[in-house]
Amino acid sequence: MTTTTIRLPAAQPPGTVLGTAPDTGESADAYRATGGYGTATGSGELLAHLAASGLRGRGGAGFPAAVKLRSVRDNGDRGGPDDLGGRPVVVANGEEGEPGSAKDRWLLRARPHLVLDGLARAAAITGAVRGFVYLSDPAAGASVRRALAEHPPPLPVEVVETDHTYVAGEETAVVRRIDGGPALPAAKPPRPFEQGVGGAPTLVANVETLARIALTAARPDLRLDIARGTLVTLSGGPAGPVLTEVPYGIPLRALASRHGVPDAAGALMGGLFGGLVDARALDLPLEPGALTAAGTALGCGAIRFLAPGACPVTCAADAAAHLAAESARQCGVCVSGTSAIGDTLSALAAGTAGPDTADRLDRWSRGLRGRGACGLLDAAAGLAGSLLRAFPGHVRSHLAAPCPVCAAAAPAEGRRLTVSVPEVADPPTAASPAPLPARPPAPLPVPLPSPLPVPLPALKGTP
Ligand code: SF4
Repeated sequence: MTTTTIRLPAAQPPGTVLGTAPDTGESADAYRATGGYGTATGSGELLAHLAASGLRGRGGAGFPAAVKLRSVRDNGDRGGPDDLGGRPVVVANGEEGEPGSAKDRWLLRARPHLVLDGLARAAAITGAVRGFVYLSDPAAGASVRRALAEHPPPLPVEVVETDHTYVAGEETAVVRRIDGGPALPAAKPPRPFEQGVGGAPTLVANVETLARIALTAARPDLRLDIARGTLVTLSGGPAGPVLTEVPYGIPLRALASRHGVPDAAGALMGGLFGGLVDARALDLPLEPGALTAAGTALGCGAIRFLAPGACPVTCAADAAAHLAAESARQCGVCVSGTSAIGDTLSALAAGTAGPDTADRLDRWSRGLRGRGACGLLDAAAGLAGSLLRAFPGHVRSHLAAPCPVCAAAAPAEGRRLTVSVPEVADPPTAASPAPLPARPPAPLPVPLPSPLPVPLPALKGTP
């Protein structure tokens, strides 16, 4: 396994999640100076803004945030005001299992107040009486604890740590771990919004979603831009992986160019969850609906571009091997299915696959979806199907003769890419004021729409 540290961008405009100092932890005072922890936007008004903006969750599924908040609130109401066991719970989920994603760990390390403000606002909307921050990154845990001490939230909030695995951030795994069990997915229903932590209706929200809720509370006039901005972790370019923030709608090809691979041969989308796409798909916009309609997914926003000459079969084999190794081994069909897909793709890359390989991959890609308790098996099945769809010529050529690119590649174990987050500086204290930015904003090789293009008119009276 190769772990590469991501690069952080230079200062971004106020109103973005990356903020003005991505490489420095943000103090409570600095956060308040951006309008954070303000009281101008009430919870009912905020929920209306979130509904109107169409903000979607950033954990992978992309569910509308306002719908999820309302569901938890309404299930809590059914318990009645004296039913404390049934009063809602809110969870900031910072456990990112996708090996190519770094945004959630960075966010908790660098902007913990933005997340905690969003968690408190989600609690106010849902009527929650307890909150949790769920994570596995020790540096993120230290950052959140420091922020909780610096600015105590209006409800009890506990940090719960877990071991890092691919499935530990799945919402039912989150609930099980907080309740003292293993961080493994459970059968659904019930879903956490119906019955979660301690049996109470529970909002499990990705930390970037909560950050965008807090930004919307501070700047409701920019709600559409906040809802359409998104963090993405890009890899596969010559300068290594990078975390950046872009508006929905930007073509994937522009992102590839910005990342130094304008002639990318395709991409692995959504971490491992969106499968492979070919070069033609790079004309698609980075927008959840458009990508889903095209048979792929934005997921957590991790995109690995395939450099020209890279072999998509190697890429698929590495991704499938990762999934097979990360199966939680609870569902028999997942244990056998992910192993079979991983072994078959590895044999294809090694030039030892049998003539029925494409048929078997096709059968598994259709028959295994939805049969596990979580999305891992779906990811493996989707990966197999996407390779057949996007790169049929490569599959045929690998069956006909050994692939020189695969043969020249490093041993499989060393090819698997995970990304890590660089250290961010501690928040400045009164005794050590914030240093001047060390790096000027880098010019963009490709003109991009600004994350905050046009200030919107004031929204007084907007439903
Ligand atoms: S589908 Fe696989 S990873 Fe998911 S719960 Fe079942 S065994 Fe575990």
